[in-house]
Amino acid sequence: MSGFSYKDVYIEDGRRVLEVNMLPEKYCNFDCIFCPIGRSKNKIDTQKSFDKIDSSLIELENMIENTKAELIFINSKGEALVNDKIGDIIDFIKAKGLPVRLLSNGYLLGRDEYMKIANKCDEVVGEIKTITEKDFQKVQRPIEGYTLAEYISNMASFSKQYKGKFLFEITIIKGYNDNEESIQKIKNIIKEISPDKIIVARMEDERFKKKLGITDERFEEISNALLNV
Ligand code: SF4
Repeated sequence: MSGFSYKDVYIEDGRRVLEVNMLPEKYCNFDCIFCPIGRSKNKIDTQKSFDKIDSSLIELENMIENTKAELIFINSKGEALVNDKIGDIIDFIKAKGLPVRLLSNGYLLGRDEYMKIANKCDEVVGEIKTITEKDFQKVQRPIEGYTLAEYISNMASFSKQYKGKFLFEITIIKGYNDNEESIQKIKNIIKEISPDKIIVARMEDERFKKKLGITDERFEEISNALLNV
């Protein structure tokens, strides 16, 4: 039995991508109301040991060979950086000659110990969803003491020193960041973070789409505005 789980391999830009989750259940430093994984009491930002790492690595090795993966995408149930073996796992994949993409909500990327780990990866994805301090606290429910201003400056610090490709995913949410004033604010955030690539997303999860989703037209308009900053 392994502590990791996998999605079916898919092709992206001609590469076979293997997505792997390295957390047994949700562990995150946020607890967003629209989290696709659901609510969780495991709100942490320090590393934690999860067992079965040896069998997980053997399984990962087999998965890489069997699927002929060309890129490993670490997309976990929460914040993968809190797995205390994450650095070793990345080294293990890199030793196989494969590139690694890491998904993080981005808050921890500004902290030295996590920055070092993320720097091992070829690609890092950071995110933003709400864009006011009030909404950040209310909707993304981070660990006490977190601020939106620090969230953005953490990603900016990371991006500034990172040699790999920093992808910045912006999720547009109806009523939270979809008006003109918000778009202008997001443009300023993009300038501050200066990512290598911008990904504009919206609420696709059926459970939240009706309340928080935006129309195709508005999505196109906003995407055009943000992708041409
Ligand atoms: S940051 Fe992502 S994983 Fe963490 S609570 Fe929010 S939606 Fe869920």
